[in-house]
Amino acid sequence: MIVWQKEADLTRQNSLGFSVCAERYLKVEDLEQLRLALDEVKANNWPLLILGGGSNLVLADYLPGAVISVGCQGVRVLADDEDQAIVEVGAGENWHGFVGKLLEMGLHGLENLALIPGSVGAAPVQNIGAYGVELADCFHSLTAYDREQDELVQLNAEDCRFGYRDSLFKSVAPGRYIIWQVRFSLRTVFQPRLEYKALANHLKAEGIGQPGAQQVYQAVCEIRNSKLPVPTLIGNAGSFFENPVVTAEQHEQLKLQFPELVSYPDQPGFYKLAAGWLIDQAGWKGHNAGAVGVYEKQALVLVNHGGGDAQQLLQLAGQIRDSVQKKFAVSLKMEPRVYPG
Ligand SMILES: Cc1cc2nc3c(=O)[nH]c(=O)nc-3n(C[C@H](O)[C@H](O)[C@H](O)COP(=O)(O)OP(=O)(O)OC[C@H]3O[C@@H](n4cnc5c(N)ncnc54)[C@H](O)[C@@H]3O)c2cc1C
Repeated sequence: MIVWQKEADLTRQNSLGFSVCAERYLKVEDLEQLRLALDEVKANNWPLLILGGGSNLVLADYLPGAVISVGCQGVRVLADDEDQAIVEVGAGENWHGFVGKLLEMGLHGLENLALIPGSVGAAPVQNIGAYGVELADCFHSLTAYDREQDELVQLNAEDCRFGYRDSLFKSVAPGRYIIWQVRFSLRTVFQPRLEYKALANHLKAEGIGQPGAQQVYQAVCEIRNSKLPVPTLIGNAGSFFENPVVTAEQHEQLKLQFPELVSYPDQPGFYKLAAGWLIDQAGWKGHNAGAVGVYEKQALVLVNHGGGDAQQLLQLAGQIRDSVQKKFAVSLKMEPRVYPG
């Protein structure tokens, strides 16, 4: 038996802090509840949003149809040997809490992804990444409910088609799969990943030459806390735009025109540009448009100072996109999902 919460207030369940009301909402604790809920969704042809921590969503004031959160909990080791362990975790677990738990268990690989808000279940959706590491680096497989086949399926890394902030769940088959459990392959011996300059510099400044797992985790948390607004204090959805990828030819032209251009080599023949730098150079950092604005310390983050809504934020995002296009001839793609689309 399931009981939907009608006209549910989701203001505290989206990190932008928008005032959002769902026509009906349900948190499912087990697969039986999920099946019952999906049966009703199907029978009534309701639009459906799967909601995690709401930290990568721009939600409208009113969400018609149904919103479901996955409550599946638990972290357990499925297999381990001298070098590695396979760990299974419920989609409803908090991501940062899970990273901290792995640290306590002496299992390594995800330290650089500490403090990313949201749930474990949403992490594969955009293949979360930070400080030179992405989820795909440690991913083993996952269990999801396939709404098309009406059954549980097991998907491996290849099935999930991970890319830069992308996966099967985001761009190929959005809405088809409900992620229930995720499995990671983790190392028992820590090998720091310090390719990301800001992280290496931070540790160097602290006088740490050979960092342990706890020190990398700590450094990531410190850098993030110094750069990113805490959503409970200032509403935001993290990076609002993806870092655009351009051809080597376009990169060369831009570099001639803008010698300070911040960029990194990507796949052979391509470069990734720092979207935050482009937005900053277009003059948007710290800009406010009523209740919404661009964060003063990081131009890539759009914020809700209080009382803003999706319409205002998307209008600002559109203006930013247009001005970057005009100045650099580069298209910015939004990272968070707008719902309803
Ligand atoms: C301050 C801040 C910093 C951030 N930093 C980073 C960062 O460094 N790197 C990064 O990659 N992201 C970052 N993000 C974005 C965000 O935290 C991640 O994308 C996170 O994985 C979203 O998790 P969530 O549970 O909040 O997902 P939600 O926002 O609730 O949902 C995101 C998408 O996933 C879908 N979804 C959610 N749960 C499931 C499920 N169980 N099954 C299927 N689909 C599901 C939703 O329908 C939606 O399409 C940041 C956000 C904030 C606010």
